[in-house]
Amino acid sequence: MTGSKAKAATLGQVVFVSAGPGAADLITVRGARRLAEAQVVLFDALTDPALRELAPQALWLDVGKRGFCKSTGQASIDALLVRCAREYQRVVRLKGGDASVFGRLEEELQALAAAGIRSEVVPGVTAAIAAAAHTQRPLTRRGVGGRSGRSVSLTTAMTQQGQLQAGRHADTEVFYMAGRQLGALGRALLQAGWPAEVAVNVVSRAGWPDALASDHTLAGLAAAALLHAGRPTVVTVGAGAAPVAAAPRTGVSAASGQAATTDRAATAA
Ligand code: SAH
Repeated sequence: MTGSKAKAATLGQVVFVSAGPGAADLITVRGARRLAEAQVVLFDALTDPALRELAPQALWLDVGKRGFCKSTGQASIDALLVRCAREYQRVVRLKGGDASVFGRLEEELQALAAAGIRSEVVPGVTAAIAAAAHTQRPLTRRGVGGRSGRSVSLTTAMTQQGQLQAGRHADTEVFYMAGRQLGALGRALLQAGWPAEVAVNVVSRAGWPDALASDHTLAGLAAAALLHAGRPTVVTVGAGAAPVAAAPRTGVSAASGQAATTDRAATAA
């Protein structure tokens, strides 16, 4: 065995497990299996504490990062991952939603590759998909009822410098990380050429039992800020935001299915 092969054999493997956006049962079977084998789990703040039951044997390390909060820096997470893989054979890096979507996976994969550590990525349910499931509004449409949705874009509304940026790239566009700037997002989308009457749907805590959804106009999107305040939120615009024809509009709906007012209804009242 060559020196580098011997070294690789003693290093552990890091498995990136996508936890899904909410309730622990949205993790995949494969993800749950990797957790059951883990010796150490590095996890983020957004993941459901019930996931711990899938790996009671493991050491759980909280490396949670939330936008604008004091948190573990990305460089220290990268370094910790490498350290763990040198110490343990089976390391799980648990990430909310899908690890490949706005999850800083690129940096962490690079750090592992640079250290010669093997990795695996287990896919999962991203927030956009969980939101579509909650509202029963398919992100792609074949045009039944006149709306064709052939493309979907997952977009972060925030640049690395913390600036809001929004455009029009697909028939259905789902914006992440816009929860704190909903009014500004609505104005930017109007400027980007989305029609004023386009369907806009906001879902917070998608995939959790207390998920909340509301319908808006672009001009009235600021009204969603209060309703969804302090909750992880995605905004769906375009074909995939419209209710399926003949289905009742959700208005504001909790997971219980109870309807309340929409911002349209609220502003009309
Ligand atoms: N990897 C995650 C995204 C992480 S970025 C995924 O695939 O879902 C964090 C952003 O994701 C939040 O600002 C919010 O826009 C969105 N988000 C995460 N969980 C959510 C949830 N349960 N409901 C709605 N939006 C969510």
